[in-house]
Amino acid sequence: MVTLKLLKEKEHLFWSRVKKSDGGCWLWTGQSKRSYPHKPAYGQFTVCLKGKSFILRSHRASYMLHHNVELTNSKQFICHHCDVTMCVNPDHLFLGTNEDNMKDMAKKGRACCPKLDVEKVVRIKKMLAEKKSHREIARVFGVSRVMVCRINRGRVWAHVKCNGWEPSTRKGRRLTKDEVSEIKRLLKNGTPRKQVASNVNVSLSVVNRIAIGRTHREEARQKKGIEPYGIL
Ligand SMILES: [Zn+2]
Repeated sequence: MVTLKLLKEKEHLFWSRVKKSDGGCWLWTGQSKRSYPHKPAYGQFTVCLKGKSFILRSHRASYMLHHNVELTNSKQFICHHCDVTMCVNPDHLFLGTNEDNMKDMAKKGRACCPKLDVEKVVRIKKMLAEKKSHREIARVFGVSRVMVCRINRGRVWAHVKCNGWEPSTRKGRRLTKDEVSEIKRLLKNGTPRKQVASNVNVSLSVVNRIAIGRTHREEARQKKGIEPYGIL
């Protein structure tokens, strides 16, 4: 358990991992973790004491520091007005109960399992057939994009038929070595990620993943004995 006293001692470390963005959100640049693959990531602040390490979600730490309060109860939820889970700006945080959190998530279309029924799935499939984006469909029905993707691939609700819709079998395309090198080169030159994505004709998430070293890392290639990309 990270107490307020302990947190105060490490406060300088906490703020050294925060980057204030133009949009007003203070983004956590340290470690992050998502509880489930389809859930958004939350920042994590690790405090070490006498060889033991304690972990606290960074937005909770920010709330504690700002309001000078102890958050000992896991039922004291700290919610985001801005809906940016990595944001630690105290002005964007509020204390709520689990119920508040659920209501807030439902309002913002992030509720974990809103009920779908046959009629809604038919409408989703219709939109998929019309090539509407997964993001848009997810927003309309208040479900996650992962759910839309699973419906699109026929993993769930496959028995529901809709004219013009066929389960997608499209697989993610593998990037070529040249494409990765080009992405890395552009990133290194400070080209905005959006621009990089459109230049190389890949999705922004692919560029983001390369930028943060989640995929196509040099060290990983070297370890496997494959020729590196040459641009770090
Ligand atoms: Zn924010």
